[in-house]
Amino acid sequence: PPLYMQRYQFVIDYVQTYRPRKVIDFGCAECRLLKKLKFHRNGIQLLVGVDINSVVLLKRMHTLAPLVSDYLQPSDGPLTIELYQGSVTEREPCTRGFDLVTCVELIEHLELEEVESFSEVVFGYMAPGAVIVSTPNAEFNPLLPGLRGFRDCDHKFEWTRDEFQTWAHRVCREYGYSVQFTGVGEALGHWRDVGFCTQIGVFQRNFDGINWSMSNAERLEPSVYKLLYKVVY
Ligand code: SAM
Repeated sequence: PPLYMQRYQFVIDYVQTYRPRKVIDFGCAECRLLKKLKFHRNGIQLLVGVDINSVVLLKRMHTLAPLVSDYLQPSDGPLTIELYQGSVTEREPCTRGFDLVTCVELIEHLELEEVESFSEVVFGYMAPGAVIVSTPNAEFNPLLPGLRGFRDCDHKFEWTRDEFQTWAHRVCREYGYSVQFTGVGEALGHWRDVGFCTQIGVFQRNFDGINWSMSNAERLEPSVYKLLYKVVY
């Protein structure tokens, strides 16, 4: 399967294993991961997508609308889906208390000083139970045919494994998380040494193990983000 599907599958497998109830996807763009998570719900009760670009959200958000089959199939309790226009560098009260935050191919679109705010906002302020961050592994780039410069013209940086891991370990020290590194897209033979095409860090908040939120408190109104779409199944 193509690399982006492997990244989504990685998140789906994580959700299947750890069964978070409240999941928020930053940089959700065309909502493709959200759509898959809606299908492979595994007990998710609240699914939120955030992107800074409202145009892509507005274009594709109808793909999250309920299908007749969603009402016919027995479901595991109500599911709320919300889409917001907003930036992961801003503090938004209604993003706190989540079990899992996913950032698939997002951080490399931020300026390095924005990555600092990102770390503070996601790990310090939102403080979810777990965070999955994926980003290109620059060491893999020589294997990509015809590539000069970055993989996408909007990328502000592409990190080596060491650069990614240095950032991740610092985040863990500052905000009380542990991280494990993995990835998707492997090279063959002696090229294996360059690591995965996409590197992934899976962060787990320390001291509380897997202890997902139980509260079904009323959702706060957003105060910084803009709500673009909401559906309750
Ligand atoms: N996660 C999606 C996927 O894997 O298919 C799309 C990733 S796309 C390469 C990066 C997305 O991040 C874009 O849709 C962009 O608008 C969004 N983005 C960039 N800066 C952002 C920010 N500060 N806050 C939220 N989203 C942002």
